[in-house]
Amino acid sequence: DEEDDADSKLTADEKALWEKIRREEERVKTIEDTRKSLPVFQYRDQLIEAVKKYPVLIVVGQTGSGKTTQLPQYLYEAGFDKGPLGKEVARKDGQKFKIGCTQPRRVAATAVASRVSDEVGTRVGDRVGYSIRFDDRTSEKTVIKYMTDGMLLREFMSDPDLSEYSVMMVDEAHERTLHTDILLGLLKELSSERPEFRLLISSATMDSEKFSAYFNDAPIFNVPGRRFPVSIHYTMQPEANYLHAATTTVFQIHFSQKEGDILVFLTGQDEIETMAANLRATCEKLAGQMERQLIVCPIYANLPQEQQKLIFMKTPANARKVVLATNIAETSLTIDGIANVIDCGFVKEDRYSPVTGIQSLAVVPCSRASADQRAGRAGRTGPGKCFRLYTRWSYMNEMAATPTPEILRTNLSGVVLQMESLGITDLLHFDFLDSPSPEALIKALEQLYSLGALNEKGELTWTGAKMAELPCDPMLARCLLASSSLNCCTEVVSVISMLEESNSIFSGRTSRKAGENPSAQPSAATSAEKFRTRADARLGGDHLTLLEIWNQFATNGFSPQWCRDNFIQYRAMNRARNVRNQLARLCRKMNLYGEEEIEEQNGADSMIRMESMSRDERDRLKVRIMKSFARGFFANAAKLSRSGDYYQTLKKHQPVYVHPSSALFRMVPPPKYVIYNELMLTSKEFMRNCMPVSERWLGEYAPHYYRSSGGK
Ligand code: ADP
Ligand code: MG
Repeated sequence: DEEDDADSKLTADEKALWEKIRREEERVKTIEDTRKSLPVFQYRDQLIEAVKKYPVLIVVGQTGSGKTTQLPQYLYEAGFDKGPLGKEVARKDGQKFKIGCTQPRRVAATAVASRVSDEVGTRVGDRVGYSIRFDDRTSEKTVIKYMTDGMLLREFMSDPDLSEYSVMMVDEAHERTLHTDILLGLLKELSSERPEFRLLISSATMDSEKFSAYFNDAPIFNVPGRRFPVSIHYTMQPEANYLHAATTTVFQIHFSQKEGDILVFLTGQDEIETMAANLRATCEKLAGQMERQLIVCPIYANLPQEQQKLIFMKTPANARKVVLATNIAETSLTIDGIANVIDCGFVKEDRYSPVTGIQSLAVVPCSRASADQRAGRAGRTGPGKCFRLYTRWSYMNEMAATPTPEILRTNLSGVVLQMESLGITDLLHFDFLDSPSPEALIKALEQLYSLGALNEKGELTWTGAKMAELPCDPMLARCLLASSSLNCCTEVVSVISMLEESNSIFSGRTSRKAGENPSAQPSAATSAEKFRTRADARLGGDHLTLLEIWNQFATNGFSPQWCRDNFIQYRAMNRARNVRNQLARLCRKMNLYGEEEIEEQNGADSMIRMESMSRDERDRLKVRIMKSFARGFFANAAKLSRSGDYYQTLKKHQPVYVHPSSALFRMVPPPKYVIYNELMLTSKEFMRNCMPVSERWLGEYAPHYYRSSGGK
């Protein structure tokens, strides 16, 4: 017919071009429609006016109303990149101004930047970018910048006026992370010094009055959202195993309800991976009986970004999506189409006791406010259901009303060091939203003093200033500095990069192909065992085991095949490699590589210099590596108990146990002294990533610390 005729006159190239244009127009139209359909859109002009009028504005709105994705775009469209208040004012360096937006979590910063890039129609790192630790995706062109709150705190150190920004939005302020709380104090001060600077504090419905009062009665802008009723279902009995209960509930929903996706709240990556594997295995078994397919979508920070994106995909007809998330999905990420929420009722939290100085990660009941927020996720697009895997009694009696802000329950030494380096020395009188206890502050100062970051007068030392420059915990930063004088920065950088991944390196679950019988293959556990029982790895505990794995990975050309052959997670190794590259670059910039190392490296950071060493040289190098860690982690030292089956912390004699995943687990004979990287509280206090140390080192590095416990 006619149309066909007209079309056939076009060349293939032209046809492709027109098709591309048509699709782009369609895309823009859908995006515009979606943007206009969000609740904040109706308030666009009022919001822009309010930001121009008030130096500090609190924005409150139901999650999913468009605060995070839209507000920075509105400000950009209103010209805030040209100058504060949308007026043309040149920046000193002639650059454009940035519109910043902080997020408590890495996943949110990257996911939102990717979404907003799509909406704006540029690639991530172009007009819209993000910056998270060890991953900066911004360029000179970037005007809308999403970042973690921790990264903005670092930016304060290099540019205390935030002169690149005309406006900053502190998002998810109700989460009250440690970094957000410190930022609020710094930004409050900045806002009185830079009257043209604009500050937005955005939060879910809780706490808005408190933020307003803190910012001298700043106005609150309320974005009304829609919300449908959600029916709540409790269990009759406490659940012994909530992972199992959650899996069962997923299938009950799947077999009894026609539509609606499912969102499951769990506490961490481990649980999410386990449950994803359980669900997939059960799906395979039940494949014949299922009317519609079940699509399992896990989400956590370490998941590759293409896979993270899956949670936002529209669910195909005749299928159902199950999203497995942590409390990241409570407010930071909104997934459309969720009609069912399954809530385990727990959260993983950092706990720190200023009395014992013991910090540990523990899974604890979440707050009622969190539980209600989680339930609310089921009622965004229609009436929903929330299945709580705990009893009504626990909800009423075992859960706190609101979460405790992180600043009141965590180790403060990292932020205290950063504040000291910003020249904020009178911490007791700093204007905190919630002041940490004097004990917690003193404990942090003591720890920094014992690490040599502060002197007797509490002033920042040269060492402290260097430590503050490093984007890691003060104890790890101290190891790096020690390794610099001990000529083993190369290796310590490797170990530190591996430590963060140590939990994922041996996990064999996800590397196995679907349908493969696990018992037919040597398991990941055997492979872990192989590395852990090497004679010299055992001498150096988990730290040198990790180094050995890294070195082999590097020697084998970072090969995925080598990882498969050894049942090691290539993805985890790749992440460690990325962190290592960044950390090594920073160490070079800070001149941390020892003279001996530089000679051996010919200027480059050869990662595997151990290979060419003699046995003797290698042993001496290993001792220096271990000493570097002892220098940073003497506070985490523990001594073998008399019975020999557990350890006691040197400082307070608390019982602690070697984690079963450690190279030192059931080692014969057990080392008399160990240091650990972290404590995990599960059934007991477990030390994860342990290294034997000599008593002499402890006495040498921390005489003041161990005065009372007999260190020389
Ligand atoms: P708020 O910050 O008010 O909670 P958001 O701006 O995060 O709201 O979300 C607005 C809308 O954008 C929601 O409908 C959400 O589903 C969608 N959205 C947000 N992030 C993404 C993403 N990464 N991919 C796809 N859609 C997204
Ligand atoms: Mg948001």
